[in-house]
Amino acid sequence: MAQPPQRQALTTILITGGGRGIGAATARLCAAAGHDVAFTYSAQHDAAQTLVAQIEALGRRAWAVQADVADPEAAQRVVDGIPAGFGPLAGLVNNAGITGPLGSFADTTIDTMRRVLDVNVLGTMAMSQCVLRRWLAEGTAGSIVNVSSIAATLGAAGEYVHYAASKAAVEGFTIGLAREVAAKGIRVNAVSPGTALTDIHAAAGEPGRPQRVAARIPMQRPAEAQEIAEAIAWLLSERASYVTGTVLKVAGGL
Ligand code: NAD
Repeated sequence: MAQPPQRQALTTILITGGGRGIGAATARLCAAAGHDVAFTYSAQHDAAQTLVAQIEALGRRAWAVQADVADPEAAQRVVDGIPAGFGPLAGLVNNAGITGPLGSFADTTIDTMRRVLDVNVLGTMAMSQCVLRRWLAEGTAGSIVNVSSIAATLGAAGEYVHYAASKAAVEGFTIGLAREVAAKGIRVNAVSPGTALTDIHAAAGEPGRPQRVAARIPMQRPAEAQEIAEAIAWLLSERASYVTGTVLKVAGGL
């Protein structure tokens, strides 16, 4: 299929776990806003290629790379691997995240806790550090958006308190790093989504969880991934030029 001609991109946005869900919705919004998009995915090659085609259909460049964000060497490989010819890297979305199986804390294994912390916390920190070092070396501005969860403030009792704790760490990291680099023109924010309609719930062992918890959401419904992505795209953009160190709840009133 013939691709439309590539226009000059504004900049490149790097998204972890971009192959599906909130990450894929964010990738499409970034491409529609004129950015090239680089994204990591963990296993679903076909979904990643579908997203590449969608971004290219919008006239932007797309690069998909398989990478485990919990692997400390992966972050540098991903940042260094963004193809020549892409717009300058101006944004990072630390979106990759896992919950582990739903259940009580008493039944949660140490292996699950360690894996969730490795992916959600260390993955976010390692990727942020690689991108930050590049921006500091180049003296360029940039915007990092970390994807937290409303669980960070609600605690997710009986479901996954280790996951809630990992997201609380992401929020603390967001505030501290934002203050550390604000004077360099680098903004760091987080979006804290409520329950959204993605495959993360099936991965946790309950595909119907969004429908089950809808009654306790003030808006009485889960979010579409696109509704979370809109907030991420705004924080990435210059329209949020005076916003840093903020955790933006996108949670239907929770
Ligand atoms: P999802 O499971 O559809 O997407 C998560 C993505 O992360 C997938 O593409 C997956 O392949 C990727 N990923 C997982 N582990 C990875 C690893 N080790 N290395 C690289 N990539 C990895 O779920 P989603 O709902 O789109 O989740 C996106 C973010 O939103 C996550 O950080 C999640 O914690 C957060 N969040 C989701 C909800 C919700 O209800 N969907 C609510 C609050 C927060």
